[in-house]
Order: sequence, then C-alpha cells, then structure tokens
Amino acid sequence: MKQKVSTKKKSNMKIIIAASEVVPFAKTGGLADVAGALPAFIEEEGVECVVIMPFYKMIKNGNFKVKKTGKSFDFKVGNHKLTGEFMEASLGKKNKIYFVKNDKLFDRDGLYVDEKGKDFKDNLERFVFYSRAVLEFMKLFNFKADVIHCNDWQSGLIPAYLKNNLKYDPLYKDVATVFTIHNLAYQGVFGHQEFNKTGLPKDVFSMYGIEFYGDINLLKAGLVYADVLNTVSEKYAKEIQTQEYGCGLNGVLSYRKNDLYGILNGVDYSIWSPENDTYLPKKYSLRNLAGKMDCKKKLLKEYGLKISPEKPLLGVISRLADQKGFDILLDAMEIIVELDVGFILLGTGDPIYHKRFTEIAKMYPECIGVRLAFNNALAHQIEAGCDMFLMPSQYEPCGLNQIYSLKYGNVPIVRATGGLDDTIVNFSRKTEKGNGFKFEKYSPVSLTAKILEAVNLYSEKKLWKKIVQNGMKQDFSWHVSAKKYINLYETAISKKK
Ligand code: ADP
Repeated sequence: MKQKVSTKKKSNMKIIIAASEVVPFAKTGGLADVAGALPAFIEEEGVECVVIMPFYKMIKNGNFKVKKTGKSFDFKVGNHKLTGEFMEASLGKKNKIYFVKNDKLFDRDGLYVDEKGKDFKDNLERFVFYSRAVLEFMKLFNFKADVIHCNDWQSGLIPAYLKNNLKYDPLYKDVATVFTIHNLAYQGVFGHQEFNKTGLPKDVFSMYGIEFYGDINLLKAGLVYADVLNTVSEKYAKEIQTQEYGCGLNGVLSYRKNDLYGILNGVDYSIWSPENDTYLPKKYSLRNLAGKMDCKKKLLKEYGLKISPEKPLLGVISRLADQKGFDILLDAMEIIVELDVGFILLGTGDPIYHKRFTEIAKMYPECIGVRLAFNNALAHQIEAGCDMFLMPSQYEPCGLNQIYSLKYGNVPIVRATGGLDDTIVNFSRKTEKGNGFKFEKYSPVSLTAKILEAVNLYSEKKLWKKIVQNGMKQDFSWHVSAKKYINLYETAISKKK
C-alpha cells in the first residue's frame, strides 16, 4: 500500500519506539541505524517520542552517560520471578532512551548470539522480559503512548499482549501498534514447550496466532496482532508476499496486505556524508572531490594493497551472511582478480565466508584485502575510499550501505531486489542518467557483467564523474521517511478505532 506524505504538524502524539538495538548504544545491523535516527526527525515534526531497548553489557561498560531512574518492577516469566529497573540516557539532542536492566538476561557480550554465533538458549525469556518491560514503562512513567512502534521479532510480542492480555485494561486498550519488519528471515522461533513463558492465553497458540509449524514465532506475533505493518522498502513489501521471499510467512503477509506498507529507511547525513564525516582523513564534497583520492590512498595503505590509486577500488561492508550474495561474489572473484582493480572487504559472520575470503586475500595480497571485523570507523573510510560498492544480495529489505555509498561517490553495483531495486537506477550512457549498476538474475555471470561494465565506465573519466555526481546529488535524508512514519502512526490509530 502506498502512503501519502502529510505536511501538517502532528502535535500531541506520543510514541514509544521499541527496538532491541539502537545507534550509538548497540548495533548489529540496519535496525540500529533506524532506531537511532528516526526519533529526532519525528520529534522535529512535533511528535513526542521515547526509545526503549535492553541494557546490554556494551552499554554498561561503554562511554555513555547513563543514569538510574529509580523505577523498578518485577513479574514472572514462566516459573521465574524476574526483577528489572529502568536506566535512562539522552539519544541525540532531543530524545530520551530508556534501558531495560536485568543483568542475568542482558549483561553479556553478544546481543542475541554467543561468541560461537549460536542463539542464546534463553532468548525467549530475554525478549518476553523486554517486551513486557516496555508495557510496564507506560505505567511506571505515566507515559500514555498513542502508538508503540515495534521492530522485528524481539518486540513482536508487544502487539500480542495488547490484543490479548491487556485488551480491556484502561491504560492500554487504546494503544495502537506499528510493526516494522527489518528482515523477515530472522523470526525468533522457539519450541512449543516454552509457550508458558510468553504469558499469553492458550488460544494464541494456533495458526491464527503465534503458532508456526508447531513452534512459537515471535515475528509472526507482530504480523498477526499489530494494527499496521510496514517494511523498509516498497519492493520488499511486495516481495515478502511471495513464496520466494516470504520465509514461510507470505500467507500471513498476503492476508494483511491492506495493512502492509513500505517506507524506505532514511540516512542521517550528519553522520554519513563526506562533508561531515569525522572518520575520514580528508573531507570532500560534490563541489570539491579532491579529498576522495586522499581517502583512497589512506585506505589502500590501511589494507596494504599495492595497486595504483588510479585503478578502480571495489568495496564490500557487510554481515557475511548468505543473504548478502557471497556465494555469487566468491564465484565472481575469479574474474575480479584478473581485472586490474583492487578489492577490499570488511565483515563478520559465517565462518565459511571468513575462510574463503581469507584464502583469496592470501593468494592475491597486492590487490585483495580482507578484514574480518565489525569496525564502524573503517566502514566510513571504505565508503569514502572506494570507487564501487558491491551488494549482490539474494534479498535486501532496504540496504543502507548502497544509499550511503551514493553520497560518498562510491558507485553501487547491486542486484535488483528489495531496497536495492528501489534506490539504484542503471546508468545510461545515452541520457547520462542513473546512479549505479543493477542486475536481475542472481548469478555470478550477471554480477561479473555489471562489474565489467562499471570498470569500463571508470576509464571514461567524464562519464564516471557524471555517475558519481548523479549519486552524490541525491537526497535520502530522514525528513521524507519520518513524515511517512508519522502518517503510519496516524493510520495505526485510525485502524485501531
Ligand atoms: P543489514 O541490516 O542487513 O546488516 P544494512 O545495509 O541495512 O544491512 O545495514 C548494515 C549496517 O551495518 C550499515 O550501517 C553498515 O555500515 C553496518 N555494517 C555491516 N557490517 C559492518 C562491519 N563489519 N563493520 C562496520 N559496520 C558494518
């Protein structure tokens, strides 16, 4: 469903954003960027907004000004009585963020998985506790939210509690919910024997509720019970209604298609633009691109590559997951190493990709650089130092890096899926319009063809400058998307009534 963008100021609306990760406090992916940036932009439109997330170890030990609020609570999760307290901090200049503190559940190194990449065994307990704490917040802080904006499986139970356990409670009965799918593949699935931990009435464990092939599915809870659903691009909103992309939930999503919207993530250009970026050795802009070469030289040095800075440099920053197209990229590497280009990668994830990319980097140390890490500063430097950015994803709900890349004059080479398809337009030599290179078929041959096309264009300096400028001129700032979210909150309120 398409939404109109409102231009009116929406005062008096109160929103809680429930997000399990928020920049700058904790991040594993795009959700954290969204939850960190959206509040300030909706507040600018006159909407009051607080964010609530778990209090992880990295926040406890990090360099953040976190205060106690003195508000604590307890309730039973399954047979265990658990206590929690709220901590608070500022989020940007205007917003407050509250943390749900329970050290037994959240004081550990990972957010959702242990050091071996295995899901924490008590994830259901952890996010039941978190979701119920978000609802508890309204009571303890006398915060009468009009809408709770839930995100991904970690907060999927909130709409289920509101529609079942709390539907006659005067404090909660009018609270509307928006549920945003940042990635349909991560669903929070738990064994049916754990159902009593959710605290939901028994009849919710049915195919019309949170049951999923005999298990409990927290993402499905959000999809079934939220008043309005959205995902992070229009294309992905359509794709997830198909069997190919629906991850087993396409039936539920098609059933709710009239309540399902697509809103592209925005970019916070105060952080992600070469004019403002404090991580760069030299800043640059559309009008003066000279600093980009300094960034490139520094990056080549950082990765120890020996190629001439005049040659094209291809970059990847990513979770190393199947979703991101690493199988076709690995096949395409055979051709990439034959071209006179550099290639650098920053990412962590699946050990098989760690192994394969490490092997290739060892074989071709002059032109291939691999860093298996999560490193925010380096991610910024790669955006600035590279000429081409690769995202050959199998599926991509929105994708942020291709949008960041545009602003850095780092031309995206992407597969036409989800948000990649919505944001990247093939460059035409004839019209000189377009901002990147896009292929349809998920195959190494299609990817390689686009890389070759890009490398050829790079040697035609005038045309290359044009494609770089086309991308740098584009504006994907949060202003537009924030207005769409405000409209979505209003839609949720009206659907609830
Ligand atoms: P996803 O949420 O699927 O991981 P997105 O493109 O939407 O993909 O968002 C990824 C975000 O995480 C971007 O801000 C990107 O820069 C960042 N990121 C991913 N991997 C790394 C890494 N290894 N080091 C630093 N930042 C990373």
